[in-house]
Parts: sequence; structure tokens; C-alpha cells
Amino acid sequence: MRTLIGLLLVWTGCADVTGIENKKSFGPAIAMIDLFTSCYLVKTEVGPILVDACWRPEELRVRLAENGVKPEDVGTVLFTHGHQDQVAGLSILPNARIAALAEEQDVLTKHVKTDPAIDDVLSDGQTLRFGSTEVRVYAVPGHTAGSAAFFIGGVLLLGDNALITAKGSLGPVPRDRSADPDLNVRSMVALADRLRSEGREVKWLAPAHSGGIEAGAALQAFADANR
Ligand SMILES: [Zn+2]
Repeated sequence: MRTLIGLLLVWTGCADVTGIENKKSFGPAIAMIDLFTSCYLVKTEVGPILVDACWRPEELRVRLAENGVKPEDVGTVLFTHGHQDQVAGLSILPNARIAALAEEQDVLTKHVKTDPAIDDVLSDGQTLRFGSTEVRVYAVPGHTAGSAAFFIGGVLLLGDNALITAKGSLGPVPRDRSADPDLNVRSMVALADRLRSEGREVKWLAPAHSGGIEAGAALQAFADANR
């Protein structure tokens, strides 16, 4: 546990973040923790999909088994971005299609050992369908050039585009973790405004390096504080 907290603090720059709870559900998304990071499982009528592939492959295998999912049954991984702790678990997912924004190809190439060609090139504003599960794709450049957020059934999956603080507010990841931290903040403000203008009710916020929160209002509060 001490190691876990230490790694989380190293990554978050000692930011006071809310803890990640393994197997906690945020709408259709189930958190799967690996030490200081997490990825999310979404069970659909056409099989399980993941948002990011977590970090250590054998940890991911355990987390999937906890949720009754075989690695070979994962059909798609939607990547918020291509850093090592989002992509390394891909090595145990033989049938998973790589879905990401085109701008993330270089980061994926750097961090995935096997062929990291994007199978399904996503575009900003696109809606994907997995059975009756709808996934809305948003480009959120800044943490990396091709960072994305996904809106699925009321939950906004944020990857490393933001964190939830221990006080329950939304904040950016530490500046030294992002390629362009100022662009990251501008992109998050734009995302909040866009979701509101589209009339999408964000019930949960679910980042990779902190726990999630049941309060979409934190997204708008962040936007209002950072205009
Ligand atoms: Zn990252």
C-alpha cells in the first residue's frame, strides 16, 4: 500500500487526489486499477471494450478475470492517449482493435512494442456504436497531441486530461506530465462548453490517475475557473 501511494504521489506531483477504487462503476464504466493508474471496462451487447489498456499485462489479466472477462474477448481498446501506462496491457489482448485519434500514432509507436498501427482512426465529434452502447469521441489535445476523452452513457472518461482532487474538484495533471499543459487546460475548457452546448449531461468524471467522481458540475466549475 505504501508503494502504491508513493507511486501515485510521484505521478501526480504530490497533488492531493482522490483514490482509485478497483471495480467501482461509473455508469457503464468499471474501474480497473494497477498501482497508480487505471483503465476502464465497458461491457456491451457485442462484447467487452476497454478505455485504455492499463499498464502491466499480468495485472490487467487479473483485473479482467475479476470482472469475468477473457483477454481474447476484448474487441476494441479506445485510447485516451498512447503513454506506457495506458498501452502496455495491450500485449495480452490478441483480438483488440486499436482505436485512437490519428494524431496519437507517434506516441503509440513510441510506447507499444508490437505493431501499434491504429486500426480504427477516430475523429473528433464521432459517435461509435457497440450494440446499443454509444461512444462519443472528443479531441482534447495538450497532454499529448492526440489525447481524447470519451463520453459513454453519462460518464466522461478523461485519461490523463485531468484529475479529481481529494476535495472533489477537477484539476489538470501536473504540468511536467503534459506535452503542452496550457493547451491541455484550454482543451478541457472547450470540452466542458461543448458538452453543455450539446446538451449532454455528465454524471460522472473518470480520470486515469485519480478516482472518479459523481458530479459533472466539477467539469463546468473547472472551465469557469480557467477561462
Ligand atoms: Zn499520460
